[in-house]
Amino acid sequence: MASLPVAVIGAGPTGLMCAVILAELNVPVEIYERNVGPNTEWRAPGIHARTMEMLARYGLADAVLAAGETVFGMVARLNGRLHEGPSLCHMRSEFPMLVSCAQTDTEQILRDRLAKLGVRIHWGLEFVDYAYEASGITAYFCHTATDSDGQARATTRATDKELLAHQCAYLIGCDGGRSRVRKTIGAVFEGKTLDASIAVCDVHMQVSRLPTACFTLHPDGQLITFRVRLNEYRAFVMWTDDPPEMTPEVLAETIRKRMQPEDVGSLQVQSCSQFTINERRASRFISDDKHVFLCGDAAHVHSPAGGQGMNMSMQDAENLAWKLAMVYHGRANADVLDTYAIERIPVADRTIRLSGALF
Ligand SMILES: Cc1cc2nc3c(=O)[nH]c(=O)nc-3n(C[C@H](O)[C@H](O)[C@H](O)COP(=O)(O)OP(=O)(O)OC[C@H]3O[C@@H](n4cnc5c(N)ncnc54)[C@H](O)[C@@H]3O)c2cc1C
Repeated sequence: MASLPVAVIGAGPTGLMCAVILAELNVPVEIYERNVGPNTEWRAPGIHARTMEMLARYGLADAVLAAGETVFGMVARLNGRLHEGPSLCHMRSEFPMLVSCAQTDTEQILRDRLAKLGVRIHWGLEFVDYAYEASGITAYFCHTATDSDGQARATTRATDKELLAHQCAYLIGCDGGRSRVRKTIGAVFEGKTLDASIAVCDVHMQVSRLPTACFTLHPDGQLITFRVRLNEYRAFVMWTDDPPEMTPEVLAETIRKRMQPEDVGSLQVQSCSQFTINERRASRFISDDKHVFLCGDAAHVHSPAGGQGMNMSMQDAENLAWKLAMVYHGRANADVLDTYAIERIPVADRTIRLSGALF
């Protein structure tokens, strides 16, 4: 069984980080991703100090710094005037900052490293189920294709005969908030859906006096902007009252209004999605057979306030990956794997509480 690879389900930041660490620690690893190609949404823009320290341990921090913009403190904007918030410079870290980097860039950096390490990503394979035996795990997949809207869909509503079977030693579910792996280990996604929604959009605007990370306070609701590249922003739009229908036109007008008196040039909303905020945590992170694990959004989801989602997810990956590598190579007892859940469940619970309070 020791020569079988570890199967990572999902090529988001959690799965990619997990695979990088396992491969760096000489564990054979393969990634299975239902999408037929990389994610194109910017999603999480903020990389925190502890995540930067982790990336530095694997020689990846410089690439992220080069791709992103550094932020040493948030700035609040009220009636067009800027007010400096607390500085991050006091943090005891080699990286006392927030790095504003598009999630697509972070993922590309991780994929580049995986390519160098010779790790294969099986694009277009959707995990369906698994069976555990003492000799290893058989994971079952079906093929997917992409609809015209770019969403993955199963090409077959696979019958048992059509499923592809792949053998692996362990399986790590990094398959996001709607995790299939979570269902297969019988975990319940406990928590609630909040009666609030946020629009998250990628915006092109030319504005001369906007700090990299900025909270704009407005009577209609907050606008939080992160510059990820020149004239390219990730914007979070909130409403104090019921939100309007969130079309790109409505969002462009809303952002333009809240940015006044700044002239934002020919503002374009390039993509937008509406977040319904869920605060949920899987009832267990490890299967009964102790060979299947949940990491990242598969294990917990919460409000984006505080920008913890991707950071906590990638830190889950490190907590699990080094322990799994020790067990895989026979250098630690399998009991050490229990500490993954013991350590990460309280972190998830704290983050869900904190980000909920910030929202
Ligand atoms: C629109 C949007 C905006 C966001 N903005 C922010 C933000 O600004 N700040 C922040 O902190 N967080 C944000 N988040 C959350 C953040 O992106 C996540 O916390 C982070 O992506 C978690 O990474 P992950 O790898 O665990 O999950 P994901 O990024 O969701 O990746 C999971 C991967 O698994 C794949 N997958 C799913 N099911 C299967 C299956 N059965 N078989 C194979 N593959 C499968 C998916 O296709 C996907 O590629 C946002 C999320 C979304 C959707």
